[in-house]
Amino acid sequence: MIDIGANLTDKSFRGDLGDVINRAIEGGVNHIVVTGTNESLSHDAATLALNRQDYLAYTAGVHPHYADDVADGWIDTIAEIASLGAAAIGETGLDYFRNFSTRENQRKVFQAQLELASSLDLPVFVHDRDSNGEVLEMLKHSATTDVVVHCFTGNGLLLDAYIEIGCYIGVTGWVCDPIRGLELANIIDRIPDERLLLETDSPYLMPKNIQPKPSTHRNEPGNLKYVRKKVAASRNESESHIDQITTANAIRFFRLPNSVATNDG
Ligand SMILES: [Zn+2]
Repeated sequence: MIDIGANLTDKSFRGDLGDVINRAIEGGVNHIVVTGTNESLSHDAATLALNRQDYLAYTAGVHPHYADDVADGWIDTIAEIASLGAAAIGETGLDYFRNFSTRENQRKVFQAQLELASSLDLPVFVHDRDSNGEVLEMLKHSATTDVVVHCFTGNGLLLDAYIEIGCYIGVTGWVCDPIRGLELANIIDRIPDERLLLETDSPYLMPKNIQPKPSTHRNEPGNLKYVRKKVAASRNESESHIDQITTANAIRFFRLPNSVATNDG
Protein backbone atom coordinates (compact mmCIF):
# COMPACT_ATOMS: atom_id res chain seq x y z
CA MET A 1 0.00 0.00 0.00
CA ILE A 2 1.16 3.53 -0.75
CA ASP A 3 -0.34 6.58 0.97
CA ILE A 4 -0.29 9.09 -1.90
CA GLY A 5 -1.31 12.05 0.25
CA ALA A 6 -0.25 12.75 3.82
CA ASN A 7 0.36 16.21 5.29
CA LEU A 8 3.21 15.07 7.51
CA THR A 9 4.56 18.62 7.79
CA ASP A 10 1.46 19.55 9.78
CA LYS A 11 2.35 20.80 13.25
CA SER A 12 0.28 18.04 14.84
CA PHE A 13 2.99 15.57 13.74
CA ARG A 14 5.91 17.60 15.09
CA GLY A 15 6.24 15.74 18.36
CA ASP A 16 6.06 12.09 17.29
CA LEU A 17 6.66 11.74 13.56
CA GLY A 18 9.01 8.80 14.11
CA ASP A 19 6.28 6.86 15.90
CA VAL A 20 3.78 7.82 13.21
CA ILE A 21 6.10 6.44 10.52
CA ASN A 22 6.71 3.26 12.52
CA ARG A 23 2.95 2.69 12.82
CA ALA A 24 2.60 3.25 9.06
CA ILE A 25 5.23 0.57 8.42
CA GLU A 26 3.48 -1.81 10.85
CA GLY A 27 0.17 -0.98 9.16
CA GLY A 28 1.41 -2.21 5.79
CA VAL A 29 2.23 1.14 4.16
CA ASN A 30 5.21 0.71 1.82
CA HIS A 31 5.71 4.38 0.95
CA ILE A 32 4.23 7.80 1.76
CA VAL A 33 3.96 10.85 -0.49
CA VAL A 34 4.18 13.97 1.69
CA THR A 35 1.98 16.76 0.37
CA GLY A 36 3.37 20.28 -0.13
CA THR A 37 0.70 22.97 0.26
CA ASN A 38 2.51 26.34 0.06
CA GLU A 39 6.04 27.60 -0.48
CA SER A 40 7.34 27.01 3.05
CA LEU A 41 5.43 23.76 3.64
CA SER A 42 6.64 22.42 0.28
CA HIS A 43 10.17 23.24 1.39
CA ASP A 44 9.51 21.37 4.65
CA ALA A 45 8.05 18.41 2.74
CA ALA A 46 11.15 18.24 0.54
CA THR A 47 13.50 18.41 3.53
CA LEU A 48 11.57 15.67 5.31
CA ALA A 49 11.35 13.36 2.30
CA LEU A 50 14.91 13.85 1.08
CA ASN A 51 16.15 12.78 4.51
CA ARG A 52 14.13 9.56 4.30
CA GLN A 53 14.07 8.76 0.58
CA ASP A 54 13.68 5.03 1.21
CA TYR A 55 10.19 5.66 2.62
CA LEU A 56 9.05 9.18 1.75
CA ALA A 57 8.46 11.16 -1.44
CA TYR A 58 7.03 14.70 -1.69
CA THR A 59 5.05 17.07 -3.82
CA ALA A 60 5.71 20.79 -4.29
CA GLY A 61 2.88 23.24 -4.81
CA VAL A 62 0.40 25.79 -3.50
CA HIS A 63 -3.02 24.64 -2.27
CA PRO A 64 -5.97 26.85 -3.30
CA HIS A 65 -6.43 27.85 0.35
CA TYR A 66 -3.07 29.69 0.12
CA ALA A 67 -3.58 31.28 -3.30
CA ASP A 68 -4.07 34.77 -1.79
CA ASP A 69 -0.85 34.50 0.19
CA VAL A 70 1.80 33.68 -2.41
CA ALA A 71 4.92 35.87 -2.45
CA ASP A 72 6.34 37.51 -5.57
CA GLY A 73 8.28 34.91 -7.51
CA TRP A 74 6.45 32.04 -5.76
CA ILE A 75 6.34 29.90 -8.89
CA ASP A 76 10.15 30.03 -9.15
CA THR A 77 10.36 28.96 -5.50
CA ILE A 78 8.05 25.99 -6.21
CA ALA A 79 10.06 25.14 -9.34
CA GLU A 80 13.27 25.18 -7.33
CA ILE A 81 11.83 22.93 -4.60
CA ALA A 82 10.42 20.60 -7.25
CA SER A 83 13.76 20.35 -9.00
CA LEU A 84 15.29 18.76 -5.89
CA GLY A 85 13.29 15.61 -6.70
CA ALA A 86 9.55 16.15 -6.26
CA ALA A 87 7.29 13.27 -7.29
CA ALA A 88 4.56 15.69 -8.44
CA ILE A 89 3.46 19.33 -8.61
CA GLY A 90 0.71 20.13 -6.11
CA GLU A 91 -1.31 20.20 -4.10
CA THR A 92 -3.04 22.61 -6.45
CA GLY A 93 -6.55 23.19 -7.72
CA LEU A 94 -9.72 25.04 -6.73
CA ASP A 95 -11.71 25.04 -3.50
CA TYR A 96 -15.06 26.81 -3.81
CA PHE A 97 -16.35 25.14 -0.65
CA ARG A 98 -14.22 27.07 1.81
CA ASN A 99 -13.17 29.96 -0.46
CA PHE A 100 -10.19 30.85 1.78
CA SER A 101 -8.70 32.64 -1.26
CA THR A 102 -10.45 34.57 -4.01
CA ARG A 103 -11.56 32.48 -6.97
CA GLU A 104 -9.56 34.68 -9.30
CA ASN A 105 -6.33 34.04 -7.38
CA GLN A 106 -7.11 30.33 -7.06
CA ARG A 107 -7.46 30.06 -10.85
CA LYS A 108 -4.29 32.06 -11.50
CA VAL A 109 -2.19 30.01 -9.08
CA PHE A 110 -3.62 26.72 -10.38
CA GLN A 111 -2.98 27.66 -14.02
CA ALA A 112 0.63 28.60 -13.29
CA GLN A 113 1.23 25.23 -11.61
CA LEU A 114 -0.30 23.31 -14.52
CA GLU A 115 2.16 25.10 -16.79
CA LEU A 116 5.03 24.37 -14.40
CA ALA A 117 4.11 20.66 -14.31
CA SER A 118 4.17 20.62 -18.11
CA SER A 119 7.52 22.33 -18.33
CA LEU A 120 9.10 20.07 -15.68
CA ASP A 121 7.31 16.98 -17.02
CA LEU A 122 5.91 16.10 -13.59
CA PRO A 123 2.48 14.68 -12.74
CA VAL A 124 -0.04 16.89 -10.94
CA PHE A 125 -1.69 16.34 -7.54
CA VAL A 126 -5.04 18.11 -7.82
CA HIS A 127 -7.60 19.29 -5.26
CA ASP A 128 -11.18 19.92 -6.43
CA ARG A 129 -13.79 20.85 -3.88
CA ASP A 130 -17.03 22.10 -5.38
CA SER A 131 -15.43 23.85 -8.35
CA ASN A 132 -18.51 23.02 -10.47
CA GLY A 133 -16.49 21.60 -13.33
CA GLU A 134 -13.90 24.39 -13.48
CA VAL A 135 -11.00 22.15 -12.42
CA LEU A 136 -12.05 19.66 -15.10
CA GLU A 137 -12.08 22.40 -17.77
CA MET A 138 -8.69 23.77 -16.75
CA LEU A 139 -7.19 20.28 -16.81
CA LYS A 140 -8.64 19.67 -20.27
CA HIS A 141 -6.97 22.83 -21.57
CA SER A 142 -3.71 22.90 -19.70
CA ALA A 143 -2.65 19.54 -18.22
CA THR A 144 -0.15 17.67 -20.36
CA THR A 145 1.10 15.18 -17.76
CA ASP A 146 -0.68 12.60 -15.58
CA VAL A 147 -3.16 13.99 -13.05
CA VAL A 148 -4.56 12.57 -9.82
CA VAL A 149 -7.73 14.13 -8.52
CA HIS A 150 -6.99 13.61 -4.85
CA CYS A 151 -9.62 13.09 -2.16
CA PHE A 152 -12.39 12.71 -4.70
CA THR A 153 -15.70 13.91 -3.22
CA GLY A 154 -17.76 14.63 -6.33
CA ASN A 155 -20.69 12.86 -7.97
CA GLY A 156 -20.82 10.13 -10.60
CA LEU A 157 -20.97 12.52 -13.54
CA LEU A 158 -17.79 14.27 -12.44
CA LEU A 159 -16.09 10.95 -11.71
CA ASP A 160 -16.86 9.66 -15.19
CA ALA A 161 -15.64 12.92 -16.74
CA TYR A 162 -12.32 12.76 -14.90
CA ILE A 163 -11.83 9.13 -15.89
CA GLU A 164 -12.72 10.02 -19.49
CA ILE A 165 -9.84 12.53 -19.71
CA GLY A 166 -7.39 10.03 -18.20
CA CYS A 167 -7.17 11.14 -14.55
CA TYR A 168 -6.28 8.93 -11.64
CA ILE A 169 -8.66 9.13 -8.67
CA GLY A 170 -7.41 9.39 -5.08
CA VAL A 171 -9.72 7.92 -2.44
CA THR A 172 -9.47 8.89 1.23
CA GLY A 173 -11.36 8.00 4.39
CA TRP A 174 -14.16 10.19 3.02
CA VAL A 175 -15.51 6.94 1.53
CA CYS A 176 -15.68 5.41 5.04
CA ASP A 177 -18.16 8.04 6.23
CA PRO A 178 -21.58 6.38 6.22
CA ILE A 179 -23.35 9.65 5.45
CA ARG A 180 -21.27 11.99 3.29
CA GLY A 181 -19.23 9.14 1.76
CA LEU A 182 -22.24 7.05 0.73
CA GLU A 183 -22.44 8.39 -2.82
CA LEU A 184 -18.75 7.73 -3.44
CA ALA A 185 -19.02 4.21 -2.01
CA ASN A 186 -21.85 3.54 -4.47
CA ILE A 187 -19.96 4.74 -7.56
CA ILE A 188 -16.43 3.71 -6.65
CA ASP A 189 -16.62 0.56 -8.78
CA ARG A 190 -16.70 2.85 -11.84
CA ILE A 191 -13.02 3.69 -11.29
CA PRO A 192 -10.97 1.35 -13.49
CA ASP A 193 -8.43 -0.77 -11.61
CA GLU A 194 -5.55 1.06 -13.28
CA ARG A 195 -6.70 4.53 -12.10
CA LEU A 196 -7.39 3.93 -8.41
CA LEU A 197 -5.11 5.36 -5.69
CA LEU A 198 -5.40 5.34 -1.88
CA GLU A 199 -4.53 8.12 0.54
CA THR A 200 -5.20 9.23 4.09
CA ASP A 201 -4.97 13.04 3.64
CA SER A 202 -3.80 12.86 7.25
CA PRO A 203 -4.07 14.54 9.71
CA TYR A 204 -7.56 15.06 8.24
CA LEU A 205 -10.37 12.63 7.42
CA MET A 206 -10.09 9.96 10.09
CA PRO A 207 -11.79 6.84 8.65
CA LYS A 208 -15.11 6.35 10.46
CA ASN A 209 -14.94 2.54 10.17
CA ILE A 210 -12.19 2.23 12.80
CA GLN A 211 -13.32 0.10 15.74
CA PRO A 212 -13.10 0.97 18.54
CA LYS A 213 -13.35 4.64 17.68
CA PRO A 214 -9.89 6.27 18.09
CA SER A 215 -9.39 8.60 21.04
CA THR A 216 -7.75 11.23 18.80
CA HIS A 217 -9.01 13.26 15.83
CA ARG A 218 -5.58 13.18 14.18
CA ASN A 219 -5.56 10.76 11.27
CA GLU A 220 -2.24 9.18 10.22
CA PRO A 221 -0.86 6.99 7.40
CA GLY A 222 -1.09 3.84 9.55
CA ASN A 223 -4.88 4.10 9.15
CA LEU A 224 -4.71 3.62 5.37
CA LYS A 225 -5.73 -0.03 5.81
CA TYR A 226 -9.21 1.11 6.88
CA VAL A 227 -9.62 3.03 3.61
CA ARG A 228 -8.47 -0.08 1.72
CA LYS A 229 -10.99 -2.20 3.62
CA LYS A 230 -13.94 0.05 2.74
CA VAL A 231 -12.80 0.45 -0.88
CA ALA A 232 -12.46 -3.33 -1.28
CA ALA A 233 -15.91 -3.99 0.19
CA SER A 234 -17.53 -1.27 -1.94
CA ARG A 235 -15.93 -2.60 -5.15
CA ASN A 236 -16.54 -6.23 -4.28
CA GLU A 237 -12.82 -6.93 -4.64
CA SER A 238 -10.37 -8.44 -2.18
CA GLU A 239 -8.16 -6.23 -0.03
CA SER A 240 -5.07 -7.89 -1.47
CA HIS A 241 -6.25 -7.02 -4.99
CA ILE A 242 -6.79 -3.38 -3.96
CA ASP A 243 -3.36 -3.41 -2.36
CA GLN A 244 -1.72 -4.76 -5.51
CA ILE A 245 -3.38 -2.47 -8.05
CA THR A 246 -3.11 0.74 -6.03
CA THR A 247 0.54 0.13 -5.22
CA ALA A 248 1.34 -0.51 -8.88
CA ASN A 249 -0.63 2.60 -9.88
CA ALA A 250 1.18 4.82 -7.37
CA ILE A 251 4.58 3.55 -8.54
CA ARG A 252 3.64 4.28 -12.17
CA PHE A 253 2.04 7.64 -11.44
CA PHE A 254 4.81 9.08 -9.24
CA ARG A 255 7.58 7.18 -11.09
CA LEU A 256 8.78 5.55 -7.89
CA PRO A 257 11.26 2.68 -7.98
CA ASN A 258 9.63 -0.75 -8.31
CA SER A 259 11.37 -1.85 -5.10
CA VAL A 260 8.90 0.35 -3.20
CA ALA A 261 6.22 -2.34 -3.63
CA THR A 262 8.04 -4.66 -1.23
CA ASN A 263 9.42 -1.96 1.06
CA ASP A 264 8.78 -2.87 4.68
CA GLY A 265 10.64 0.05 6.22
ZN1 LIG B 1 -6.93 18.54 -0.91
